[in-house]
Amino acid sequence: MAEIIAVANRKGGVGKTTTTLNLAYSLKELGKKVLAIDLDPQANLSRCFGIENPNNIEATIGHILMSEIEEESYKVEDYIISYDEIDIMLSSIYLSVAETQMRVETGSEKILSDIIESLREKYDYILIDTSPSLNILTIDALCAADNVLVVADTQMFAIVGIDELLKTVQKIKKRVNSKLNIKGILLTMCDSRTNLSKMITEQVEETYGGKIRVFQSKIPKTVKVGESIYSSQSIKKYAKESIADIAYDSLAKEICYE
Ligand code: ATP
Ligand code: MG
Repeated sequence: MAEIIAVANRKGGVGKTTTTLNLAYSLKELGKKVLAIDLDPQANLSRCFGIENPNNIEATIGHILMSEIEEESYKVEDYIISYDEIDIMLSSIYLSVAETQMRVETGSEKILSDIIESLREKYDYILIDTSPSLNILTIDALCAADNVLVVADTQMFAIVGIDELLKTVQKIKKRVNSKLNIKGILLTMCDSRTNLSKMITEQVEETYGGKIRVFQSKIPKTVKVGESIYSSQSIKKYAKESIADIAYDSLAKEICYE
């Protein structure tokens, strides 16, 4: 039975997509069967899984959501592709069309959950990459998830982004999805040479430590990560054994075994 993890933070550019991608590869390396869902119309995750032009694809999560809204029948398996032994549900700009429809649809916060619940048996982990917004798509991800992986960069306003997400999670837990929990806070783009990065790391640990798990594994800021994303690859493919690859492997072990 899969554990469903939503990777989230309304703050943009903190490393959500990079984390979803590389965590999927590291979990696969541990022998886990992973499904990654790109729930962002920007479709950056889809590009990292070898799709050059996501907007030409007609079997995306946006299309399934529309089928659900229009009560058309479909086979969810037809919307899943396999890449490097990781399964993925792609996104495209069409997801914004679905999002607009969902805003006026009754009970739409449960649509994604209805879609992926039937897939639980096939996977060990289902990772959902969300957009930098607390829109209906992200709410759906939080309603479908068991756990939230809070990704925070060690830059200004990190705490603001974390606090805002935690408040939303509490509301969803109370009103819609009582099983929802925080998996932990993952600090990304850590640079031990800069005081700001060190200060924010300490601030997050002091503010949340003891109450919420702050992962021991921290993702270093390295040019290799930027280059790997630029060339649409995971860090494991682009720079195996680099410090960022090792950090994501260590995160996967914390998630699986601790
Ligand atoms: P969005 O909110 O737009 O969806 P995001 O939170 O998904 O953004 P990413 O797209 O993963 O963030 O990363 C933003 C940028 O930061 C990318 O260009 C990526 O290459 C870079 N980046 C992510 N992690 C690191 C890292 N550890 N070191 C250096 N650069 C990084
Ligand atoms: Mg992203």
